[in-house]
Amino acid sequence: MLPAMSHAQRSILFGEVNDRIYELLDSADPDLPGEFLCECGDDCGRRVRLEPAAFAALRNAGEIVRSPDCHRPKFGLRRREPVDGVPVLS
Ligand SMILES: [Zn+2]
Repeated sequence: MLPAMSHAQRSILFGEVNDRIYELLDSADPDLPGEFLCECGDDCGRRVRLEPAAFAALRNAGEIVRSPDCHRPKFGLRRREPVDGVPVLS
């Protein structure tokens, strides 16, 4: 679809799309699960079925949405928690 994108760019873009999906779901029917894009960064095209609350919990935890079928190591894009004041690039 967008072959020129890097894994990191795709992961960020899909994350933004998922944020929109979440907003729509949450405003329409918060109890209804929706299909979010897998943010693994590969062009895997997988969807992850999540309730809006589950998605919000992932975001709050600094996690990305990832299909159980995608095992790519994390990029650390959304996890830059400082350890002892030093940013760690995982
Ligand atoms: Zn994936």
